[in-house]
Amino acid sequence: MMTFEGLGIDARLIQATDELGYVNPTAIQEQAIPVLLSGTQDFIGLAQTGTGKTAAFGLPLLHIIDAAAKYPQALVVCPTRELCMQIVKEIELFKKYMTGISVVAVYGGASIGLQIRDLKRGVQIVVATPGRLIDLIERKAINLEQIKYVVLDEADEMLNMGFQDDIEFILKNTPKRESTWLFSATMPAEIRKVSKKYMKDPKEVTVGKVNTANKSIDHQYYVTTAQHRYETLKRIIDFNPGIYGIIFTRTKLDAQEISERLTREGYDIDALHGDLTQGQRDKVMGQFRDKTLQLLIATDVAARGIDVQGITHVINFELPDDVEIYTHRSGRTGRAGLQGICISIVHQKEMYKFKQIERINNSQFHKMDIPTGKDVCRKQFFAFMEKLLSADISHGDYETYVPMLAEKFAEVSKEDVLKRVAAMEFDRFLKYYENAEDLNARERDRSTREPRGQENGRRREERSSEGGRGDSRAEYSRGGGSGYSRLFVNLGTKDGFFKASFLQFVLDMSDLKKEVLGKIDMKDMNSWIEIEKGAAQQMIRSLDGKNYKGRRIRMNDADSGGPGGFSGSGNGSRRPRRGEG
Ligand code: AMP
Repeated sequence: MMTFEGLGIDARLIQATDELGYVNPTAIQEQAIPVLLSGTQDFIGLAQTGTGKTAAFGLPLLHIIDAAAKYPQALVVCPTRELCMQIVKEIELFKKYMTGISVVAVYGGASIGLQIRDLKRGVQIVVATPGRLIDLIERKAINLEQIKYVVLDEADEMLNMGFQDDIEFILKNTPKRESTWLFSATMPAEIRKVSKKYMKDPKEVTVGKVNTANKSIDHQYYVTTAQHRYETLKRIIDFNPGIYGIIFTRTKLDAQEISERLTREGYDIDALHGDLTQGQRDKVMGQFRDKTLQLLIATDVAARGIDVQGITHVINFELPDDVEIYTHRSGRTGRAGLQGICISIVHQKEMYKFKQIERINNSQFHKMDIPTGKDVCRKQFFAFMEKLLSADISHGDYETYVPMLAEKFAEVSKEDVLKRVAAMEFDRFLKYYENAEDLNARERDRSTREPRGQENGRRREERSSEGGRGDSRAEYSRGGGSGYSRLFVNLGTKDGFFKASFLQFVLDMSDLKKEVLGKIDMKDMNSWIEIEKGAAQQMIRSLDGKNYKGRRIRMNDADSGGPGGFSGSGNGSRRPRRGEG
């Protein structure tokens, strides 16, 4: 039997694994560790969760990291925050007897401010989810220049979740990468492609049964509120620039109305429903087949018998009542050996129905976060860059124009040209998504959902009757703060904050959106913050007990024991929600 000593890892790591009760290495550890200890060999490990793969990459990483160099040397990218935390937890256990090595987890849905601070402490191993990592790169809060080792954990899941561009971006932006270690439970074609493009002669190891036939349809769902269904649909479409898909509605009126609305907003879509003549129907179908139309919106009856190849996405604008109909709809994609995605936009109240479909359909459905405005812009940007780079310049007589162009652009830097091209292409998206709101129906909203939903509706009506841009803070206070909590915090202007920087600070720490805040009242030493009830605990959890410039932050509900009473006027400005302005 192989032992950890036999694999050649550091004695301090062996001491830790001993303590954890690891007697012998698992199959993936046995095959991966000797290869990975070299630090220069690319590696693919096909292994499911539970096979010990975290130690298979975690132990060699700790062995080869330079503890004296206080900058990120290894990057582990994984699909979810849970996995991110779990990996860090295990690495912490493994490095118990090593000194000078730090590891940090960075993932979405948590305070980016704290994560940035952690990164500044000189960590060597960063464990990240792709979205948050890109955010940090954009904020210049992390430098990938010196990264030597990139580990992609659960690579298939990351691609399923739409992170392909992000992964490629990360791989392209680690210039000093000496090796890439990819772990995946399955080996779909996309992973092969990524590995071919970014890895050099990877050593491939398979442990246990690998599902190479990977189910051809990925079932995904997005949970939103009833009033955000249409916006969610738009965001899904915008997040998938290459989409070629069918959207299903329950009624022909919906199909017609959504099609008209999307067409007005510049989307390439037409409707198929029972009221069309055969001629009209053939015309629409012809265009869709030719791909002159990118999207088709249809009722179940009208779509019966459609067999079009290459459909990338089926979207259920609403869930059908019948499981069988769901199966028919989703079966339009993932044909002829191609991968397809079936997306359902689900209202929280429909979850029971959804669970039923999931059970009977016997597939695992993946809950997805509705992309933020920033996610959409990034995705569009990547797609645009791809388009730009793959433009065919082999035909036209472009050479003739080059000297002319060169002269015209002599004064403009390459970066500026790129920025201008991007601005031309992205203006619409950037403007539209600048203040995009979070469309996800959050679990934590549940306790206050009904009353808050009603109150929001009422507020919106009030605002629109006032001409659109009411000062919502005034309304919160007018309503006696119903739906809002008031938090006390022992930070104030004496801490060097102005209102705007204070606002930014609490939002960064708590990863909440500006929209949840009401009135802010700042004094020298203390401040009071009005915040939507559903978000109050998250803010308290994120700030209370943390340190600010060496001082312990105290934050609590002002109306349950803490200091209270608004005494200032509080006149920060809130940006109008989309549709208000
Ligand atoms: P993973 O596949 O990394 O999620 O690991 C699954 C579980 O196996 C974790 O709880 C590990 O702590 C445990 N584990 C990993 N390696 C070993 C080993 N060599 N012996 C016993 N348990 C292990």
